[in-house]
Amino acid sequence: MTIMDSIIRQRIKVNGIVQGVGFRPFVYNLAIKNNLNGFVSNTSDGVVIELEGAAGVVDQFLESMSDSPPPLSSILSLDANYIQVANDCGFKIITSKSNNEISTQISPDAAICRDCLNEISDVDNRRFEYPFTNCTNCGPRYTIIKELPYDRHLTTMSDFKMCSQCKEEYDNPMDRRFHAQPNACPDCGPSLTLTARDGKSIASSDKISTCISLLKSGFIVAIKGLGGFHLMVDATNSNAVSRLRTRKNREEKPFAVMAKNLDHARDLCHICGTEEIWLTSIQSPIMLLKSIENNNIASNVAPGSEFLGVMLPYTPLHDLLMNCIVDVPPLVMTSGNLSDEPICIDNDEALDQLGDIADYFLLHDRRIHIRADDSVVMIINNKPRVIRRSRGFAPAPVILKNNGPSVLAVGGDLKNTICLLKNKNARISQHNGDLENLKAYETFQQTIHHLKDIFDIQPDILACDMHPGYFSTQWAKSISYLPLFEVQHHHAHLASGMAEFGLENPVIGIIMDGTGYGLDKTIWGGEFLVGDYHGFQRINKFQNMPLPGGDAAIKSPWRTAIGYLFKTYGDSLPDLPFMMLHDYEPVIQIVQKGINSPLTSSCGRLFDAVSAMCGGKQEIRYEGQAAIEFMNAAAAAGGRSCLDFEIIGDVVSVESIIRSIVKCLKMDDNLSVISRKFHNTMIKIFTQVAIQISKDTGINDVVLSGGVFQNRILLSGVNAALEKNGLSVFSHEQIPTNDGGISLGQAMIARNKLHNNKN
Ligand code: ZN
Ligand code: ZN
Ligand code: FE
Repeated sequence: MTIMDSIIRQRIKVNGIVQGVGFRPFVYNLAIKNNLNGFVSNTSDGVVIELEGAAGVVDQFLESMSDSPPPLSSILSLDANYIQVANDCGFKIITSKSNNEISTQISPDAAICRDCLNEISDVDNRRFEYPFTNCTNCGPRYTIIKELPYDRHLTTMSDFKMCSQCKEEYDNPMDRRFHAQPNACPDCGPSLTLTARDGKSIASSDKISTCISLLKSGFIVAIKGLGGFHLMVDATNSNAVSRLRTRKNREEKPFAVMAKNLDHARDLCHICGTEEIWLTSIQSPIMLLKSIENNNIASNVAPGSEFLGVMLPYTPLHDLLMNCIVDVPPLVMTSGNLSDEPICIDNDEALDQLGDIADYFLLHDRRIHIRADDSVVMIINNKPRVIRRSRGFAPAPVILKNNGPSVLAVGGDLKNTICLLKNKNARISQHNGDLENLKAYETFQQTIHHLKDIFDIQPDILACDMHPGYFSTQWAKSISYLPLFEVQHHHAHLASGMAEFGLENPVIGIIMDGTGYGLDKTIWGGEFLVGDYHGFQRINKFQNMPLPGGDAAIKSPWRTAIGYLFKTYGDSLPDLPFMMLHDYEPVIQIVQKGINSPLTSSCGRLFDAVSAMCGGKQEIRYEGQAAIEFMNAAAAAGGRSCLDFEIIGDVVSVESIIRSIVKCLKMDDNLSVISRKFHNTMIKIFTQVAIQISKDTGINDVVLSGGVFQNRILLSGVNAALEKNGLSVFSHEQIPTNDGGISLGQAMIARNKLHNNKN
């Protein structure tokens, strides 16, 4: 007998997302297959396995378990110890009874799996064409959970009693549906209703085909999905799309579309390997993909953009809809909400609020407890960039390097997320929207209470932005029983980059965004920082420029352009073509008199100003529109030439850039050429300043953060240039680079603050 044959017993503790994701049946089946004895059980510490058998087989078991765990699980740590052999017979799943054994890991919602897809398309299967089919490897999770433990009666599936066949699957450890809490079938589960806009149901033997016929006739249909309602319309029918735009009061902001499968998505867009992986992932986000020219998508779906947001069917309902007949067109699927409000999740709410937009409603009776918008991902430099982290991602934790006090960070007011820290887990919420909207603000508050509850977190400290006008800040200030730490906006961006990559030593932060409240009460947004969780220094910055009319200028880039030109040239303004379009005298007046013209170092506003000066977007219809279209213009021109610029001491002279642009305009350079030169220039400035700071401080790590880094040309250009100069670059992947990511940074800074105060 060799050592490998000798009988041993090991006790193995597995942590991570290992509860409610089919981990125990997986272990059970693997143990049975390998003829191992022992048991598996859920405890408050994670999954505990005791295995008894030949040493070699136990090793093999551990290897297989780590190599191919169930699709929704993720093993974060694995602890194995030898214990006394107990001579068990067989292998058992020990069911958890006690409430102390509350699972603290909740899986995000997951796209339908291959097995379930096969079942719904199999005429002989009892779930043939059943839109609510799911199993342990797929289906709703976070959006239906009301309380922990994750058990059917505490989810919105408590409305349905499992039939005997479903119950059998649920109780059978060998079944794919063992303990699948949302398990259902046509006999016992949720069902569809098709109604007119007045809520009166429409008799139809096949609601899904009827729905497709309606869409093909150009009607707008609201559909209840996984994390909320969508508004659907035929994406190849420009009249229908324009009707949706008018009714939804959404003039130009691009719509996302759903394609029936990967092949069809390839007819619409160029898709590289990494893009394919994410498009077909269990998160199933909207992917921003480069459109193929002359695809059949109506031009008003994503006007002025080279990119199209595409997703694939991620629920059985979507799949049945997209495949019910051969020629289902790609469908616009946009959030079912009124302009900036959160998406509707409730049938009555949707009928009430979307009744003037949608002609028909495809409803169902599985309630959504927590709303989750579609997530948005793009690939830059072959890496995923999560721009909106919501359905499919939340509430999976970001794993931190160290333990520390529990923290609640409330984020910023735009693209709000909140973040809760407990031990090594950072829980970033789903996207709550812009808090100046009252309903989004209510969602924000609900999210805080819900996440605190389900993860059982009692924060020791609160963190918020320094902006006194933020609703999130005001909410945090109203909580009197907890210490509050106010974090500077761009410091939070820097810390969020550090946390994502587990950095601990001081870094150089190139933080470029729209606006954030600065320490000197001006508006910051073009910042070169050196710092860590303890603090930061503002080493360099873009020159302060006036923002005529304050926030109003954000919607009218031409006003920003006039402000920047006036600051540069004073009374001797050059004559530029774009100026003829506007009555700009009053704008100059307010800047001159200093009326409501706050100063800003914002990089986002510089993009706006330059783009408007060159004849780009004068007024914008959605956030970032001017910068996005300006970037698209650069793609049409090549070359490496730059504009002249000056860095004076610790300030990048914006005036010098404005003068160079005016020179280009006088030489009749077109928008594309100037945009390319401008992008090259920004890359050069960022690199030059970062290299200088690195020389002065000896710091080699550079974090890029802020909404401006959603710009592909800039991000890949800066990345390449810094790396070429021997610096290590960290740019966001899983955490949004925009304000959706600052809650994590705030939380880390506050945790550190508390930690240091205690020591
Ligand atoms: Zn499944
Ligand atoms: Zn059933
Ligand atoms: Fe920001």
